[in-house]
Amino acid sequence: MPLPNSIEARDIAFHLHPATNAARHREIGPLVIERGEGVHVFDASGRKYIEALAGLWCAGLGFSETRVADAVYQQMKTLPYYHTFAHRSHGPVVDLAEKLVSLAPVPMSKVFFTNSGSEAVDTVIKLVWYRANAMGQPERKKFIARDRAFHGLTIAASCLTGLPANHRGFDLVGPEVLRVTAPDHYRNALPAESEEEFATRLAAELEALILREGPETIAAFIGEPVMGGGGVIVPPEGYWPKMQAVLRKYDILLVADEVICGFGRTGTLFGSTTFGIEPDIMTLSKQLSSAYLPISAVLVNEKVVEPIIEESGRLGILGHGFTASGHPVTAAAALETLRIIEEDGLVENAARSGAHLRAGLEALADHPLVGNVRGVGLVAGVELVLDKQAKTGLPEQPGGLGLLVNTRLQELGVLTRAMGDTIGFSPPLIISLAEVDALLAAFAQALDDVA
Ligand code: PLP
Repeated sequence: MPLPNSIEARDIAFHLHPATNAARHREIGPLVIERGEGVHVFDASGRKYIEALAGLWCAGLGFSETRVADAVYQQMKTLPYYHTFAHRSHGPVVDLAEKLVSLAPVPMSKVFFTNSGSEAVDTVIKLVWYRANAMGQPERKKFIARDRAFHGLTIAASCLTGLPANHRGFDLVGPEVLRVTAPDHYRNALPAESEEEFATRLAAELEALILREGPETIAAFIGEPVMGGGGVIVPPEGYWPKMQAVLRKYDILLVADEVICGFGRTGTLFGSTTFGIEPDIMTLSKQLSSAYLPISAVLVNEKVVEPIIEESGRLGILGHGFTASGHPVTAAAALETLRIIEEDGLVENAARSGAHLRAGLEALADHPLVGNVRGVGLVAGVELVLDKQAKTGLPEQPGGLGLLVNTRLQELGVLTRAMGDTIGFSPPLIISLAEVDALLAAFAQALDDVA
């Protein structure tokens, strides 16, 4: 039990944590992190950990980048806040919008700023609905999303999220969401089905769904280029081009949720580039500011935005936005982050360190607990099993093998996240090969200790 009045005891007393078993938290309390340095964080007792998930897949620059801190301080002193409602603007927001349009992997037209991935996804839903009404197609409101998708946890974004843990207990009411199968070849392919055949089957499933529902009722398909929170699901060969061809055939918008993938995570600047996706809309956050301050963005192409602009003229307003949409200080943090990513070659570093990480994880494929190793760029997942043939773990224990290995990893000085029985790796983009080796050594040890 924590000492009375310790930070742990006060955390238990006063803090309701997100995405946490709050009842169990009363028993075990928090791990309190005090400071960061490079890819490492330190707890209150001075213990050092490799942050193998960059926090929540977000601190691309690691935990001690003072150039962002300096840029933020300068902006705070110049203009600490201004809004962007009703024709107001300022330099940082304009510079950032222009920068994002110039970086986009396909022609994009405009940027709408928000403050979290979830707000960006909610904004997508509202913009797409507004556009449908503007085009005289009020019936075009349904979204298609995948099983095990993660798109955030505000009410509307939660509806798109396809993880049961985020639906249980809430009786969510929101946009109508149609589900298709996650592109998880290890779990969802038929016996002896090749990656290509699996991708073809999923595209056929999508087309059948669209025809059953009526193409004219469907607004958009949303997908993460690599599914993150659902367990690092890397799509099979040919998946995205085949899905995209079906969406184009029925004139359905494609939304790439790049909240995790954006800014180097998959070894190129965007997941859309890595997988040949040509989205109409993109959501960006996390590594956009290395999560030093909360900011997110929605990029829309001309086809999406033109009817919205016209409609706002007719209605007198595009009645959506937030107090902190395009906040000058968060915009300054993002501009500096993007400058560092470019100047320090961090996308290239992510590709190099990621290849090393994956080679090291694949070398563990024969370990008795390793069922599947998957990854691209600097994001990877290792799915743990007890029985490799049956692909089963420890069903009687919530969290099962994933929780056991994750807990052991923490004891060995590596922080990451178990998504069911999949251990996720998404370290800061700055990670060196030697730090990857340290991470791999701890993981191999944790597997041996749990086996
Ligand atoms: N979209 C994706 C792909 C995400 O991974 C996340 C968060 O992990 C979100 C949206 C939601 O972002 P936030 O937690 O900032 O609301």
